[in-house]
Amino acid sequence: MRLLAGLLLLTCWALPQVASADPSPTPTEMEQGTVTPLDVVEGWKSSPVYVEPSQRSLVPEQEAARLAERVSGQNEAIRIAVVPAAALRLGAQEGAARAFVDEVVDQQKADGIYLIVFGGAITWGSAVGVDTSIAEILTDELEKHSRSDPVGLLDGVLDELDVPGSSSGTPGWLWPLAIVLIVLVGLGFGLPWWKRRPGKHEGPALYRPSYDVLPDEADTLEERQKLAREDVTRFGEELDTADVRLDGVNTAGDVQAALDAYTEACGVVDGQPDDARLREVRATVEYGRWRLATAQALVAGTPVPPRRAACFFDEAHGTSVTDWMCTPVGGRAREIPVCTSCQARLSGAAR
Ligand SMILES: [Zn+2]
Repeated sequence: MRLLAGLLLLTCWALPQVASADPSPTPTEMEQGTVTPLDVVEGWKSSPVYVEPSQRSLVPEQEAARLAERVSGQNEAIRIAVVPAAALRLGAQEGAARAFVDEVVDQQKADGIYLIVFGGAITWGSAVGVDTSIAEILTDELEKHSRSDPVGLLDGVLDELDVPGSSSGTPGWLWPLAIVLIVLVGLGFGLPWWKRRPGKHEGPALYRPSYDVLPDEADTLEERQKLAREDVTRFGEELDTADVRLDGVNTAGDVQAALDAYTEACGVVDGQPDDARLREVRATVEYGRWRLATAQALVAGTPVPPRRAACFFDEAHGTSVTDWMCTPVGGRAREIPVCTSCQARLSGAAR
């Protein structure tokens, strides 16, 4: 008697929940997809981590090889597959994912832990004949990783399964090199460089949109550009839906300023803005939203909202102009609003 525990995990929150009564696709329907359960089982004959070739951008070959090395030799077999989301029938992904994994398990005819990533859509885990709460583990890890980071997700799941060797682990051959480097730093070779290097947690705050994103969704410039485009689009929608016309209240200046800010931000995000330009976009959109909120306050007859927070270091410095990443002693890095002179002091321009 085998224990089968599975859980659907929608990594894309926009997808509608699908009732479990939905009909599962038949094997014939699934065969029309790009990958069949049989392909996965065939792939596992050469490695416990099968990555369908079209998914190499999600899980590159060397990461797949590292994961394979990590899971091999475990008491309880762990099998991982990364297949395109197209392997699922559209519209009934819960049923399709369940059916796909069930068929993979039937074909494999073996106990163990099964983890299948369906492109950027769904990740499904199943423990067969193994007493592991894979559902809880997956839910836990999905909160920490975005859908574009299946490697981080899989490493996180393996960590929780107590599989030795993590993504931050150092390959054996690197150790002698690391020791030499530590000695060099100790001798003062690397120290001045180390002190001067720009820390990730100090300096001008990187772009982030007005809406919440996971920390690893804004890691690369490309990701930040994408988030900025989305935020400018949302600002445009806010402008579209805002009703700020009222007889006797003059909001034309504020509304025009908000529209100008939107136009300016659109012009920047349509190109390939660098981080400095993205910071400007953030300020432009913030300014536009403030002018829009001002117009709305005038119409509603409520107090006009403040432009920005006061300088973090001293309110007497006045309104802040930008955000700065700071790590307080013993604390976590966070963004603080700073005025022009504090910005200059922090950046080392005026000591
Ligand atoms: Zn200040």
